[in-house]
Amino acid sequence: AFVFVTGAFLIAALLAGYAIQRRRAIVARLSAQDALRRANDRLELTVAQRTAALTAANERMQREIDERERTEQRLRDSQQEVVHAGKLAVLGQMAAGLTHELNQPLVAIRTLCDNARTFFERGQPAQADANLERIGKLVDSMAVLTGELKTFARKPDVERVAVSLNEAVAHARLIYDARIRDEGVRLDVNIAPGTAVSAESSQLQQVIVNLLGNALDAVHDAPVRRIVIEAAEPDEAGRVRFTIADSGAGIAPDVLPHLFEPFVTTKPRGQGLGLGLAITSRIVEAFGAKIAATNRDEGGAQFTIEFAAAMPQQRTEHGR
Ligand code: ADP
Repeated sequence: AFVFVTGAFLIAALLAGYAIQRRRAIVARLSAQDALRRANDRLELTVAQRTAALTAANERMQREIDERERTEQRLRDSQQEVVHAGKLAVLGQMAAGLTHELNQPLVAIRTLCDNARTFFERGQPAQADANLERIGKLVDSMAVLTGELKTFARKPDVERVAVSLNEAVAHARLIYDARIRDEGVRLDVNIAPGTAVSAESSQLQQVIVNLLGNALDAVHDAPVRRIVIEAAEPDEAGRVRFTIADSGAGIAPDVLPHLFEPFVTTKPRGQGLGLGLAITSRIVEAFGAKIAATNRDEGGAQFTIEFAAAMPQQRTEHGR
């Protein structure tokens, strides 16, 4: 009986030990599985978070790309507007100048016509003939003026050629001839004959017309109305220094740093769009030249353009 009972106890103890071991193994397996699941959950959460962050970054990038594209488009549009407005500004200037220029001979022709009729009625054909001759001359000068405008209408030709500075200045002078005369402006031009720069004829004329127009505006209210246009001989580096100085009040200090930016103007509404110098500097750059502006110690503004002198082999183009 003792052996049997002891044996039974031993078996029971062994069974209990086995059960405890097994339970521990199951608990350990379960907790390992649990840890694995938790690690898995954490991983999935991290992946989900990273994916969300990536998607958000992607969307942000897409939004930035869209915004950049929109800004680019806006820039392109405003650039086109500037170019368009620039053309309109030049057109407006030309129209105003042309009306003024053509009005004077038209009034004279009207009077000469009326007088010629009266001379015919009075039987004085010689006087009537003299009037007709003067009418003919006035019509010729009007034709010269409209011929000048053809240079503006010509399609911009980017090819740089040798352009005579004197001819370009003479063209600008002709455009403002009436104004220079009427306002009693003394305009001195000091450019050695034959000085030629690498440029494009009608665009160079536009540059000088813009600068001379500004100088005329500047001296309008000045006690002394004087404009001096000069160009030195080409230096060793083959550059021609062209200057236009006036006796006006000079460039306003707050305008000076922004002078060549579009829409910078101190002129009353309707008189200036602030595009003249922006267009001028763009043209000058296209010539491979440089433009700068300063206020002179003795008063008034001075604009300087450093042109590349025309090369001897460069084709020569005349102003008209
Ligand atoms: P706008 O003539 O339509 O004003 P511009 O670009 O030609 O446009 O000139 C911009 C501004 O620069 C002018 O409004 C004027 O204030 C200044 N400026 C240009 N030329 C002169 C000058 N010769 N003297 C003084 N100020 C000048």
